[in-house]
Amino acid sequence: MKKILVSACLMGYECRYKGDGCKCEKVLELSKDNIVIPVCPEQLGGLSTPRLPAEIADGKVIAQNGIDVTAEYNLGADFAVEIAKANKVDYCVLKANSPSCGKGVIYDGTFSGAKTNGNGIAAQKLINAGFTVKTENEI
Ligand code: SF4
Repeated sequence: MKKILVSACLMGYECRYKGDGCKCEKVLELSKDNIVIPVCPEQLGGLSTPRLPAEIADGKVIAQNGIDVTAEYNLGADFAVEIAKANKVDYCVLKANSPSCGKGVIYDGTFSGAKTNGNGIAAQKLINAGFTVKTENEI
């Protein structure tokens, strides 16, 4: 049995910016034989649900109305790292493409649906802290 930090939206929690979830059967399957710890870094950072979408551009996280929400994203990411450390998780499964949780590929900051190479803020901080991060597409 492993301890796994997961993006809460993958468990079906309705914490996404639109106010919905994105339940992933593979993640639910993991929860049967392992201890999963759901976190939503954007909510942990104090952002409301629903909220405006945001994307990373030039190292900052900018909401669709132009407001800089980098501080909130950093705060939530720091909480996610603290939760991962406190629970000594074995690895993390985070939502692909998200500006918080995405790993390897994220939206490119133009709100056009285009993607670019990079990690979300929480994914990057978890990697920097030494945790293995996978997306739901890699399990
Ligand atoms: Fe899901 Fe992560 Fe976005 Fe929260 S911050 S809704 S957990 S992808």
